[in-house]
Amino acid sequence: MNRGTLYIISAPSGTGKSTILSEILRADPNIHFSVSATTRAPREGETDGVDYCFLSKERFKELIDTGGMLEYAEFCGNFYGTPRQPVYDKLNAGKDVILEIETVGAKKVMSACPEAVSIFILPPSLKTLKDRLVSRNTDPIEVIERRVAEAEREINLAQNYDYVVVNDDLDAAVSEVKSVMKAAKKMTKLNHDLIKGVLEKC
Ligand code: 5GP
Repeated sequence: MNRGTLYIISAPSGTGKSTILSEILRADPNIHFSVSATTRAPREGETDGVDYCFLSKERFKELIDTGGMLEYAEFCGNFYGTPRQPVYDKLNAGKDVILEIETVGAKKVMSACPEAVSIFILPPSLKTLKDRLVSRNTDPIEVIERRVAEAEREINLAQNYDYVVVNDDLDAAVSEVKSVMKAAKKMTKLNHDLIKGVLEKC
């Protein structure tokens, strides 16, 4: 059985990545979404074990110390991390896995798993991003200011990713991410065995 493909998707908050991701996951049951662990408090409507595993700082640290995290990072004063085992289990079972993570963690996964395919979702502009965060009405203004500053820093790192997609129009962005994910399956870095196999048939 072929191993699944590992996708890293990063996007500043307010870029609409959650909506894009839910569309992608709805359309393809072979894709597994890696549920991250975090020390931040749940937002209204978020469910433990579905959106995130909400952990205390102590429990999060314990997981790091026992090697249970594939990667982790501190973001806006909270810790976020990817539990390692479920990712490898799904990939080994032939499922594709999406990690929706910020840039520091993404960089760690890119070096640890060079076969991972990375996609950065951009907002049309920083102004649009701030307007979206304000209208979402889930965070106080000082948190929004901090997230916009963080977004600017993250967008500067978009060039480290394999692909970039702008979310100006939701349907177009979903379709572009799907195309990119499909095209990525043909990247040479994911097809060394295929090339070797053809040569062996000589
Ligand atoms: P939010 O608090 O808005 O849900 O997420 C804040 C940031 O944390 C987002 O950029 C999101 O992609 C990132 N994030 C979510 N889960 C993880 C994770 O497991 N690891 C890392 N490094 N970042 C994560």
